[in-house]
Amino acid sequence: MKSELFINGAWVAAQSGGMIDVIDPASEQVVHQIASAEAADIDAAVKAAKSAFDAGTWSGMTGAERAIVLRNIATGIEARTEELARLEVLDNGKPLPEARWDIEDAAACFHFYAGLSEELDAEGAQNITVSDDRFTTRVVKEPVGVVGAIIPWNFPLLMAAWKVAPALAAGCTMVLKPSEVTALTALELGDIAQKAGLPDGVLNIVTGFGPSAGQPLTEHPDIDKLAFTGSVTTGSRIMQSAAKDIKNLSLELGGKSPFVVFGDSDIEQAVEWIMFGIFWNQGEVCSATSRVLVEDTIYEKLVARLELEARKITIGDGMDEGVLLGPLVNKSQYDKVLGLIATGVEEGARLVCGGAHTDIGKGYFVAPTIFADVDENSVIWQEEIFGPVVCLKPFSSESEAVRLANDSEYGLAAAVMSKDDARCERVAHALRAGIVWINCSQPTFVEAPWGGYKKSGIGRELGKWGLNNYLETKQITRFDDNSPWGWYLKQAEDQTG
Ligand code: NDP
Repeated sequence: MKSELFINGAWVAAQSGGMIDVIDPASEQVVHQIASAEAADIDAAVKAAKSAFDAGTWSGMTGAERAIVLRNIATGIEARTEELARLEVLDNGKPLPEARWDIEDAAACFHFYAGLSEELDAEGAQNITVSDDRFTTRVVKEPVGVVGAIIPWNFPLLMAAWKVAPALAAGCTMVLKPSEVTALTALELGDIAQKAGLPDGVLNIVTGFGPSAGQPLTEHPDIDKLAFTGSVTTGSRIMQSAAKDIKNLSLELGGKSPFVVFGDSDIEQAVEWIMFGIFWNQGEVCSATSRVLVEDTIYEKLVARLELEARKITIGDGMDEGVLLGPLVNKSQYDKVLGLIATGVEEGARLVCGGAHTDIGKGYFVAPTIFADVDENSVIWQEEIFGPVVCLKPFSSESEAVRLANDSEYGLAAAVMSKDDARCERVAHALRAGIVWINCSQPTFVEAPWGGYKKSGIGRELGKWGLNNYLETKQITRFDDNSPWGWYLKQAEDQTG
């Protein structure tokens, strides 16, 4: 396990010598330590990224040349899938099969952006039509420069891949700050990238706390672009840092995503997708469908079926076979989620099942929690809980369902279920969210855009939209006519009469 900072191709201690404990959320034991970077370390990392960018060792390569290294990174991840998945479980708590998906998806992300990197070469050679045929105009895409990427703890390596793969494909250099809560696999990515042939200084990885490492990164004058995933509060703070130097910015800030289930739905299917939508990854998912609106004709039946299935979920250490729900990531998230469950009870919502899971005797376990009859103005209906807690509410008409679904400051994702295709399409268009799932919840594809409306963020990750986040668009216009342009002469003639 790596513990030092990865700066300019070397593993170095934090200048202050500070270290942070890594805690296994299932056992509450300290299992490792990582360096605690501060402003001086961040400055060294940004300087390394800036020198690498200016030297053109990466930004000056063709897309095809960069694609070779990106594919090497992908295969480097694939070769270490099991080891990386186990590190993820140790750090984050998620069940091992889910950790394996994350690692496979991270590798797929590098493969995908290798392909888009190659396509960039051809794109830059195309002319566009302009209104005066004496001029020829070409549009080229260029890397935005030095990127500061800050990522959360819920999908540690995958969130790193979502930012590192497109940024590198674009030709940027970067400083990545993972959450100090789950930095182990991001550090291994530094090792994998170096062995894959990435030049020194192109990817720098610094671990540390938000205020002492994240904040100086967002404020550093040599950072051209900030890419962030996390809470609205921190996102807003980062936007303020970016404003000072007018830094390019993209934000993915979570949500309180609705799932609208109409009365003609198959109840078994609905229950299965609701369970997946809120209980996978312990509900620590930005797109978790945590507000479920159910047509009143099937409401009570669905609540009863959901309770039955939720009570069957095996809770335990993510390393153990058959476990479907691991511990929450750390004590502070555990306290936050239990606090919000207590708030829900105080607010008068019906607690169907769930709360703290204390059978194991240690670890940050919360049982699958279902609240029914939740008031639309309550805290638990409006606030992102980021845990295995689902809120249900009945509705009696399509327009009421859409109104309730859209009544949120967030707009990341939404889901609708019905056997009536036309109704699904209508509702999908009416929902104010960047991602809408019909008859399912949560499928995510590297080819398709990911991001939200309203307070869920700015910009889109993944697909070609994700690559554009890291590209500047430049027009190059040439005057192709040998005759005089004539504009000045014509103005002079007009003025003299
Ligand atoms: P944060 O938004 O605070 O953390 C996300 C990342 O930002 C981490 O790397 C964090 O570092 C860093 N960070 C924190 N403060 C600053 C700062 N001032 N400047 C720059 N970077 C900073 O989320 P939390 O971990 O505190 O989780 C709180 C809540 O946020 C959750 O309960 C959930 O509701 C939401 N969340 C949403 C996520 C999403 O996917 N949209 C992901 C994670 C959380 P550090 O870890 O050291 O604090």
